[in-house]
Amino acid sequence: MTKPSVAILGLGIMGSGMASRLISANFSLSVYNRNREKCLPLAARGAFVAATPHEAASRAQIILSMVADDIASRTVWLGEDGALSGASPRSILIESSTLSLSWVHELAGQAAKRGCHFLDAPVTGTKPHAASGELLFLVGGSAEAISAARPVFSVLGRDVVELGPIGSGSLMKLVNNFLCGVQAASFAEALSLIDTGNLDRGKALSILTGGAPGSGILKRIAERTVVNDFTPAFALRWMAKDLSYAIEGASEQGVALPLATAALAVFRQAIDAGHGDEDFSAVTKSPWKRRNL
Ligand code: NAP
Repeated sequence: MTKPSVAILGLGIMGSGMASRLISANFSLSVYNRNREKCLPLAARGAFVAATPHEAASRAQIILSMVADDIASRTVWLGEDGALSGASPRSILIESSTLSLSWVHELAGQAAKRGCHFLDAPVTGTKPHAASGELLFLVGGSAEAISAARPVFSVLGRDVVELGPIGSGSLMKLVNNFLCGVQAASFAEALSLIDTGNLDRGKALSILTGGAPGSGILKRIAERTVVNDFTPAFALRWMAKDLSYAIEGASEQGVALPLATAALAVFRQAIDAGHGDEDFSAVTKSPWKRRNL
């Protein structure tokens, strides 16, 4: 079967790994990134570097966006020379960034007006999973569009979970990340108490990660704090963004998330302290004793 042509919009930590996978699997690939320099390694491997999202989209049957937030997504799809204006009717638009529910629905409406299929398909997994094709896609949209996008999903992911109508994938992703964010923020507070109370950090981490609280997220943060390496795999500012989108989306449905709200305050303080571009595990670095929520 002929492989569909693909465009990737956004070559950050995640998008660059995904684009690299598609090139390795011999897809005809067009790439667009705001900062063009990030396109160069892919160009050297045969990707077409588009000057605009419009140009990238006009060359592809499947267009996948993996950008920072609502503002970035709006810019690449609907901005000047945006991808939607270049997309052919019946092409498949996949939005894999983690975005607010209200924006995902607005974008889906614009896609429908142009006659395109739309899937919201955020992912779990991080930098190494993007590079090795082991992401988990959480997808909202029609079974027909998911089926047509499967050749791409199967190169980029270990599985595709069909969650229901458009927006379901994004809702699931926000639920997933607000739980991660709340755990991370509470772990930062726990470490503060461990240090202030002069407990042995090594022993405390071993007890916590080996016991009932030892979730995947706690283990990951503990590993980072032990080696003192906060190089971003998932930037702290994007965790704050996800908490805020979860709170906003829940509120639109009449659901309060007070723990997510408290966690967001912890993450905002870490951003104010200059840790926004570090890995989200750097939330453990702020001077929590002086925190005033
Ligand atoms: P990243 O490394 O910070 O990359 C962000 C991308 O968005 C870059 O391509 C950046 O372009 C682009 N961008 C930002 N603002 C823009 C704007 N105003 N206009 C156009 N492009 C803009 O982020 P990432 O870690 O790859 O994450 C991408 C998305 O995946 C986010 O929604 C994140 O929440 C989600 N996600 C991340 C992870 C993870 O572990 N990293 C896991 C799951 C989901 P420039 O290069 O020009 O700045």
